[in-house]
Amino acid sequence: MRAMVLDAPGRKLRLAEVPLPEPGAGQVRVKVEACAVCRTDLHVVDGELPEPKLPIIPGHEIVGRVDAVGPGAAPKLGARVGIPWLGYTCGECEECRAGRENLCRRARFTGYQIDGGYAEQAVADARYCFPLPDDVDPAHAAPLLCAGLIGYRSLRMAGEAKRLGLYGFGAAAHIVAQVAVHRGSRVYAFTRRGDAAAQSLAKGLGAVWAGASEELPPEPLDAAILFAPVGALVPLALRAVRPAGVVVCAGIHMSDIPSFPYALLWGERVVRSVANLTRQDGEEFLALAPKVPVRTEVTRYRLEQANEALSALREGRIAGAAVLVPSR
Ligand SMILES: [Zn+2]
Ligand SMILES: [Zn+2]
Repeated sequence: MRAMVLDAPGRKLRLAEVPLPEPGAGQVRVKVEACAVCRTDLHVVDGELPEPKLPIIPGHEIVGRVDAVGPGAAPKLGARVGIPWLGYTCGECEECRAGRENLCRRARFTGYQIDGGYAEQAVADARYCFPLPDDVDPAHAAPLLCAGLIGYRSLRMAGEAKRLGLYGFGAAAHIVAQVAVHRGSRVYAFTRRGDAAAQSLAKGLGAVWAGASEELPPEPLDAAILFAPVGALVPLALRAVRPAGVVVCAGIHMSDIPSFPYALLWGERVVRSVANLTRQDGEEFLALAPKVPVRTEVTRYRLEQANEALSALREGRIAGAAVLVPSR
């Protein structure tokens, strides 16, 4: 099969013909219909996450059809499934036993420690795959599998939040905004200064205000979610939330947070991170998405254009989500 392979961090991905993977016990193989490009893929490629499997096929927002089933795996041949970031948990450690499998000490992640979806086919542990309906468009469904799932978990961590700020209006924010508007929140979108495309996307999705991250919103926020991997946004967001407000850092990696006056945190404001996802997050969000309904804005790239998609994401040139669509 063809795959885009990372040989070492800092390199470009290489288009390669690699052996077709065979599913082991409890695993399925899917023919990849679409794989969305996540900012975490950039962190893997750029070497910002420790000890990736190398070489690695990135990609953890996979929509595909099951084309081989290993012994004991439940999904049927031809079934459409989604493969997310969470690829394996031990089920035995303290975190797993406490219902926090997202923090499992032996967790393994798709496209990081397990070969992912920048390929024509991919193998996954069936217990971590989500069933998807036949009538979804694969390219539009793919961003739900991380931008959507982890965005949803971040939104849960933000609490009720009638007034919600989203810093960095990319793939995750454009999905979270729709869910938040659906449940009655007023959404404030913060982007890079002058990013007219992201601001108009935000307004088109129901945001009541869009502006630069350095600006203060017209009213104090109940919560803010940071999707941009920029530590300097933490004090800016703290300044924008009311007392007892929450600032949720949703990314897996962030540049250093600059020092800031204690007064910004005072008033029982909270800063917290969100790590990975649980299968329950996935089940809840995938049931909720069609009710909103969440509509994703996608830019399609061919598999062999993965480097271009990553560059466009790095440079902030994608409105919504980039999606790789293998075709041959
Ligand atoms: Zn565990
Ligand atoms: Zn992701």
